[in-house]
Amino acid sequence: MAWDFSTEPEFQAQLDWMRDFVREEIWPIETLDVDLSQVEKIVEPLQEQVKERGLWAAHLDPELGGQGFGQLKLGLMHEILGTSLLAPFAFGNQAPDSGNSEILAMVGSDEQKDRWLYPLLNGDIHSAFSMTEPHTAGSDPTLLETRAVKDGDDWVINGRKWFTTNGSIADFLIVMAVTDPDARSYQRASMFIVPTDTPGLTMIRDVPTMEHPEDRFGFFGGHTEILYEDVRVPNSALLGAEGAGFIISQQRLYPGRIHHCMRWLGQAQRAFDMLCERSLVRFAHGSLLSKHETVQNWIADSAAQIHAARLMTLHAAWKMDNEGVAASRKEISLIKFYGAGVLHDVIDRALQIHGSLGYSTDMPLEAMYRYARAARFYDGPDEVHRASVARQILRGYEAPADGVPSEHIPTRRDAARNKFAWLLDAATAND
Ligand SMILES: Cc1cc2nc3c(=O)[nH]c(=O)nc-3n(C[C@H](O)[C@H](O)[C@H](O)COP(=O)(O)OP(=O)(O)OC[C@H]3O[C@@H](n4cnc5c(N)ncnc54)[C@H](O)[C@@H]3O)c2cc1C
Repeated sequence: MAWDFSTEPEFQAQLDWMRDFVREEIWPIETLDVDLSQVEKIVEPLQEQVKERGLWAAHLDPELGGQGFGQLKLGLMHEILGTSLLAPFAFGNQAPDSGNSEILAMVGSDEQKDRWLYPLLNGDIHSAFSMTEPHTAGSDPTLLETRAVKDGDDWVINGRKWFTTNGSIADFLIVMAVTDPDARSYQRASMFIVPTDTPGLTMIRDVPTMEHPEDRFGFFGGHTEILYEDVRVPNSALLGAEGAGFIISQQRLYPGRIHHCMRWLGQAQRAFDMLCERSLVRFAHGSLLSKHETVQNWIADSAAQIHAARLMTLHAAWKMDNEGVAASRKEISLIKFYGAGVLHDVIDRALQIHGSLGYSTDMPLEAMYRYARAARFYDGPDEVHRASVARQILRGYEAPADGVPSEHIPTRRDAARNKFAWLLDAATAND
């Protein structure tokens, strides 16, 4: 009977260490006004401790210096790392470098690995993933317009991208561009490695957002708008096969969604802890807030939602480890929209119970709230994941041939009377 909710003791000990380490060593850095290079300096000695514990770059296989953990273990790790935006730095798996390193590990040539992957893993360089465009719907990547055209031994790229996270601090970009507009929709695009000093590439701005409303440029976490004008790269810049861009991005996105969902749970749990703590100290209308029924409902509803999302996410990770990406698509879509909703709801309640303190920057909640809002549409909007889930579920159903619902009671009653006619006749005869 294989149905087990426990974590093996050795790995649980690692998780316990991580939880203390992230809380004691990394949460305090969040409060400092430091830039990326200062963060990197502060985090350097912490990275050594992580390496000593055997937890560095856990998303990669051992031959690349990683741990080769499956999605389940990675998920449990990300739940802890998700409590702080800075924690992934200390563990060598900060996005988007982690996903980009997975792409390079998966389909990169030896030359591409030497030039880009190993320095990326060492933390010597940064990368970004450049797919979304301002004028086409990112949720439907078959509409991409950025073009890469073959010219002799080179490719020439033209187009405009935005929301390329970390674009303005990256050393290279992985760019998705259409290479064959006449191919079937999911075979039109390819991926290219484009060094950021390539002529024709202009970093226009880091787009001010809800997350970073201030107008600034060149910072970690900036979402960059980039113009590609006759950007020429050699054929060796092609990542994987021509036309394989969508397949590669799906391979990258599915495990990434599990990690997102687990990180969101870490954030949600942190907000939940603030909600509970505040309820025990704030007094209003005759009692502590914890005694008011509405607050009790918030606590119970939040606990139930977090628990449900956690089990769903771990189940999706388990399924992916055991049955692969394709078999887990429904479970991953389910947690993507459900988890994003839980994250939003729990942070919203935690902010609400703190009143003006929650709205102020004296608490991390307002930043968490702004950050959480994007979860409902990046990596696929809620609506697209819901539609995908519904489509997959409906494949297991068919319309009744006669148009009558199969549970229609009068129809079933007639059928039951026929089926049990002899019994009913016998019962009537006894009368
Ligand atoms: C914080 C953040 C970081 C990001 N980082 C990156 C990055 O590093 N690289 C990158 O390339 N991109 C990145 N993006 C962009 C992100 O991938 C896109 O925002 C996302 O794919 C949605 O595309 P869009 O913004 O063009 O919205 P659209 O595709 O225009 O969709 C807008 C809305 O339309 C509705 N909608 C769409 N399809 C359907 C449907 N089938 N049914 C019903 N309603 C629908 C949904 O409500 C959706 O939210 C990032 C975005 C954010 C917010």
